[in-house]
Order: sequence, then structure tokens, then C-alpha cells
Amino acid sequence: MPTTARTLDCHHFIDGKFIPSLNGKTFDNINPATEEVLGTVSEGGAPEIDLAVKAARRALYGPWKKMNANDRIAVIRRIGDLILQRKEELAELESLDTGKPLWLSNSIDIPRSAYNFHFFSDYIRTITTEATQMDDVALNYAIRKPVGVVGLINPWNLPLLLLTWKLAPALAAGNTVVMKPAELTPLTATSLAEICRDAGLPDGVLNLVHGFGPDSAGAALVEHPDVNAISFTGETTTGKIIMASAAKSLKRLSYELGGKNPNVIFADANLDEVIETTMKSSFINQGEVCLCGSRIYVERPAYEAFMEKFVAKTKELVVGDPFKEKTKVGALISQEHYERVTGYIKLAVEEGGTIVNGGKRPDGLERGYFLEPTIITGLSRECRVVKEEIFGPVVTVIPFDTEEEVLDQVNDTHYGLSASVWTNDLRRAHRVAAEIEAGIVWVNTWFLRDLRTPFGGMKQSGIGREGGVHSFEFYSELKNVCIKL
Ligand code: NAD
Repeated sequence: MPTTARTLDCHHFIDGKFIPSLNGKTFDNINPATEEVLGTVSEGGAPEIDLAVKAARRALYGPWKKMNANDRIAVIRRIGDLILQRKEELAELESLDTGKPLWLSNSIDIPRSAYNFHFFSDYIRTITTEATQMDDVALNYAIRKPVGVVGLINPWNLPLLLLTWKLAPALAAGNTVVMKPAELTPLTATSLAEICRDAGLPDGVLNLVHGFGPDSAGAALVEHPDVNAISFTGETTTGKIIMASAAKSLKRLSYELGGKNPNVIFADANLDEVIETTMKSSFINQGEVCLCGSRIYVERPAYEAFMEKFVAKTKELVVGDPFKEKTKVGALISQEHYERVTGYIKLAVEEGGTIVNGGKRPDGLERGYFLEPTIITGLSRECRVVKEEIFGPVVTVIPFDTEEEVLDQVNDTHYGLSASVWTNDLRRAHRVAAEIEAGIVWVNTWFLRDLRTPFGGMKQSGIGREGGVHSFEFYSELKNVCIKL
């Protein structure tokens, strides 16, 4: 059993203090692996968002602006250090909240969250701007200023990792922040507020308001006229609603949205490497990673061998208690999501597909939102199961004959987040990587990330890029000064 240090009830963090909602409203936080109540969460709305935005605006012009750059960078670095100091506790909280295996929280979610602060506090020192001379008439130079108060809205699948991916560059660029974590995963966001306070972040620089999306804290944050920018990660449909609402005050938006990512496997690829990585890209984090490869296309000569090994390896995956060492696949996030994912499995059968592995609750696990890793074959490109994001441990496998044919299928989607291509033919690798309509294409690997590189989606998978200098392009205003000589 986990041994968390802090109480599992969550309050807002506004102007340096933990406070309940003004009307005292709370909601329950459910453990997806046991269906038990973990604690209560203060339910914020427009009044709490307003308090948080006012505190953020005071801090923007006050202590945060007045702190010199070296001190600011030192505080941001210290946040990363404190995350590492509390690594085990944070990993337990993350697994309790999400149902993901503890080894995964320990090896990816928490260390990567700390690294986000270390990376961006280093990176900000490398940022330069341009100077442009107009003969002997004028000298122009650009400077970077903060955007102002930035709203961060996050999903539940990688709660601390994605929150810190936004928070670290937002702070490094001199902004102040109001963050709204997903209602399903409030725990590590609450610890992060505590860590920021302990690291010496001045009051009001980071504010946290818990709550839901529509008619709640999320919508109020987007609507608030004194919020200058929104960085949102979540579903494409939510992104559309937020864009319409943000238009009223013309907010700057950064979007990391849904995906239906293809793995394209050519027959000349190394099958053992393909299988090892495909296991991860299909089922890691219960398939609840936006980058998961949920459409697998295999060149026909390799199809049979691939299926044999892939199904055999999938059968070995242990599903169950996130706190057991041997568990590879934990629980899905919620009852509602469980019904959505299993609904797609039923639909696959109606659409003529064959469930070659999984498709149901594992034997012996009566409670918790557990689902066997599921492999579906026999579906064509028109099927909804092949077109729509499922966001669970469910993949479709489709054979193909030619490069042209597979590219045509792969690009036949509104999404364009990521793709993974497997081949040992150098020219084909470059050709296919260039043609796939996705913001990130991996060749002979998956989810290998250098934080300096641009991250984001094409088509309806996102707007803008974050990572390295691209994050600072979003979180700062580039301003030109022109001096007549
Ligand atoms: P979601 O869109 O339902 O919710 C995300 C956040 O938005 C939550 O905090 C929610 O409360 C808030 N929200 C909902 N409606 C809102 C509204 N009207 N106004 C303001 N805020 C609102 O997404 P989810 O189910 O939490 O997350 C899963 C989705 O996130 C998947 O589609 C997945 O692909 C996507 N995702 C994308 C990336 C990426 O980098 N592209 C990363 C992780 C997850």
C-alpha cells in the first residue's frame, strides 16, 4: 500500500494560500483501481478563478517582475530539485489518482516533471533576439516580454508531466499562471503548488483552481478578460469549444489535442525491435497517451509473423493493481471512460472486426476499471474504430501492399499528431517521414523526445508547437524597438 505524506483532500492554491471554495463546494476523487473515494476536492468556479487571476496580475507587476533573472531561474530550478526530493511520494499519488503502474510514475512521469524545470531554466539562458540595421537610418532590436497571465488547462493522462511541461517555460518567460488540472487527477497538481511555495516562488505567481470544464473553473478561466493566453491539452472537441470562447477576448492559444496515430511497419524492419516498441506504443499507460500508435499498418509479407509475436507478447502483459511490481497495464481513468472504450470494442464487432486478443475485463478483477489489452483485425479505413480516437489499450492492425496505398490510408484522418515508421531502407524512411501528415514522425523508434525539438500536432491535433525555443515563442511577446540614428 502507498504511504503518502499528505492528506488526499485537495484545495485551491491562490495568492500563496490553500483555500476551500467560497461556497464550500467539493466533489469526490475516485481511485480508478479500487473505485473507492480517495478524498474530496474543492470545486472552483468563476469566483475562485477571478481571485486567482487578480493574484496573478498583482504578482506579474510586483515581485515576479522585480526579481532579477538569476534569482528567477534559481527558483525554477529548485522546483525541479524538490520534485526529485519528493519523487516517491509524488509517484504514489500519481498512480493512486490515474491507475497507472507505479513503476511508470517512478520511471517517467515524475523524473520527467522535474526535468521540465531543469531543462527550461537552463534553456532560457540561451534565448537571444535579433538586431536589424537599416543602413545608417535606424537600428531595430527585438526584446522578449512576458505574455502576462497565462491559463494552463490539462488532461488526466500524464497529470504532472504535462502540467510542468507548460508551467516551467511559462514561469521561465516571466509570466504568472493560473492552472486548472483535470478534475479526475487533482493530487499531484496540489503537491506541485506546495513545492512551488517551498521553492520560494512569490505569492500569486502560481495559482491553482480545481474544478470541471464547462460551466465551471475551466470555462471561467478561458472567459476571464484578464487572462492573456491559454495553453490547453485535451480533446479536440474541447479545443473547439475553448477557441470559440477565447475569441471573445482574442486570447493567444496553444493546443495539444487528440490523435489517431499510425505505426507503419515495412517488411524489411527488424521484427524483434518492432515488437518490443509496438508493445509500448500500444499499451503503455493503458494506451492513454496522446502519442500511442493505435492504428498499426503492416506490410503484407511481414503481417503473419508480426501478428503471431504481437499477440503472444500481449497475452503476457499483466493487468491489475498499479502498486504491484509485475503489473504492466493498470486501470483506465474512470467509469465513464471505461464505458467509452469498451463501447468502441463492441462497435468494432458490429463493424465486422475480429477481436484477436482481449476485449473484456480480466478474470478475477471485479472492481476497478481494468480492461485486457485489445487487438482488433479485419476493419477497413471507413470504420469508426479506425478513424476515431479511443484513448485506451485498443489497437487495430491492417495489412498493406504498397507505400502509396499505406500513405493514402495513414493520411485519411482529421488527426495529425504523431507517427512511427519502421524500415531499414534509408531512402524510404525519409520519403515516408516527409509525406505523413503529422507533427512528429519517429523512424525505428517511438516517444523518443529531445525537449529542444518542436512538439505539436498538424490538422485537428493541435495548433502551435512547444519545446525549446518554440515554447518561448508562445509564452513571450516579441517586441521590436526602432531607433532613428
Ligand atoms: P478533455 O478535453 O475532456 O479535458 C481536458 C481539460 O479541459 C480538463 O481539465 C477539463 O476539465 C477541461 N475542460 C473541459 N471542457 C472545458 C471547457 N469547456 N472549457 C475549459 N476547460 C474545459 O480531455 P481529457 O479527456 O482530460 O484528456 C484526453 C485527451 O487529451 C485525449 O484526446 C488526448 O489525445 C488528449 N491529449 C493530447 C496531448 C497532446 O500533447 N497532443 C497530450 C495528452 C492528452
